[in-house]
Amino acid sequence: METKIILKDSDIPKTWYNIISDIPNPPQPVLHPGTGKPITPADLLPLFPMPIIEQEVATQRFIPIPEEVRKIYALWRPTPMFRAERLEAAIGTRSRIYYKYEGTSPAGSHKPNTSIPQAYYNKMSGRKRIATETGAGQWGSALALAASFFGLEAKVYMVNISYQQKPYRRMLMESYGATVVASPSKDTNSGRQILAGDPDSPGSLGIAISEAVEDAATREDTSYALGSVLNHVLLHQTVIGLESQEQMRIANDYPDVVIACCGGGSNLAGLGFPFLRDKIAGSRDPRIIAVEPSSCPTLTKGVYAYDFGDTAKLTPLVKMYTLGHDFVPAGIHAGGLRYHGDSPLVSQLYHEGLIEAQAYPQTVVFKSALTFARSEGLLPAPESAHAIHSAIVEAKKADEEGKEKTILFNLSGHGFFDLAAYDDYLAGRLVDHEHPESRIREALGRLPKTGG
Ligand SMILES: *Cc1c(COP(=O)(O)O)cnc(C)c1O
Repeated sequence: METKIILKDSDIPKTWYNIISDIPNPPQPVLHPGTGKPITPADLLPLFPMPIIEQEVATQRFIPIPEEVRKIYALWRPTPMFRAERLEAAIGTRSRIYYKYEGTSPAGSHKPNTSIPQAYYNKMSGRKRIATETGAGQWGSALALAASFFGLEAKVYMVNISYQQKPYRRMLMESYGATVVASPSKDTNSGRQILAGDPDSPGSLGIAISEAVEDAATREDTSYALGSVLNHVLLHQTVIGLESQEQMRIANDYPDVVIACCGGGSNLAGLGFPFLRDKIAGSRDPRIIAVEPSSCPTLTKGVYAYDFGDTAKLTPLVKMYTLGHDFVPAGIHAGGLRYHGDSPLVSQLYHEGLIEAQAYPQTVVFKSALTFARSEGLLPAPESAHAIHSAIVEAKKADEEGKEKTILFNLSGHGFFDLAAYDDYLAGRLVDHEHPESRIREALGRLPKTGG
């Protein structure tokens, strides 16, 4: 039995997998925020270069990965898969637990899988500058890294509370050459408006997205880049699942359960969609589980409706599970899981019953994170720890049912920049927040009217 299942450089996938070619129903149209009509590629050109818009609406099953992108992927890909024997022993399960480790990238998470191709297509299309938002700083670091590789300028609007709490992520972005401001900032109309109402606003991803979108839309040389949610982002992340399928073959196994944490849905889709293809084809029947924090329970407690992607209502309307575009989450430590919405593709597949979802409060998640760190040695990102917790819950459930399962989860990043969160947990300072039902009902009243 192998503990570490590794692939060769030549096994880095040559194509991304596009699940749109296999899903039972076509995706719901994206609507123009002004007219309420389906948007056209021309509507998106101020924000994205054409190759990315084409990938957003592509229907072919496999999309070639440019050789230049594969070469950069080779800095850390293929990523290792581990059989978590020491974790299995620590929790005393009869099930087999595997994890795919995406924390080996230079930025420490799965996010460079998409920041690299996004920067590449921007460079190819003649754009000089990229504006983006970041919550915990993982996406900002990944984009700053990619921008530096392709000689692009990067402007990062970082959610104020994270800017204050996570100075090391800001320093990493600046080390890669990016300009970072706390959001809401004085640099945009959307930021100035929020600051006028609340000078101490903690910010939110929704606000930071408004700022980055406004920046990109008002400058000819600038694109906007998003680190999750959109179809092209999920597409780029499928390298995770494609490699994992090969690694499962080498291990002579196949997962009964495939688990990933879910903020906007990109690492879940990245690991899960290639396995979901088998499920849709009927050749296998894996359960795919999205795990979210109970303080931001988008799939488990949100509604499936058209909503804006940002607070200032600048983005197109997408049909997704949402807690409302003006949602400001509790300051939990898994910053990457605090978005009010979810990927339209993940939302649709969840709505159609092809994906499951679970929500857990942060204290049990941190407990499982330490069980993992003390058995497998890797300190997980708090986001990834949600997947670990679910894997442990599923293994224990199988034990109770007298079953032996194969469980695969994604370890989407390491937690070396999250030590303050671990310190809070160890000192007993972490508290659990449930997102109250009353707040969800209020937010529903503010959803845009589309008739859809
Ligand atoms: C950003 C991030 C997430 C959440 O984003 P998804 O798009 O849902 O994958 C999860 N884990 C890590 C380590 C992240 O950086």
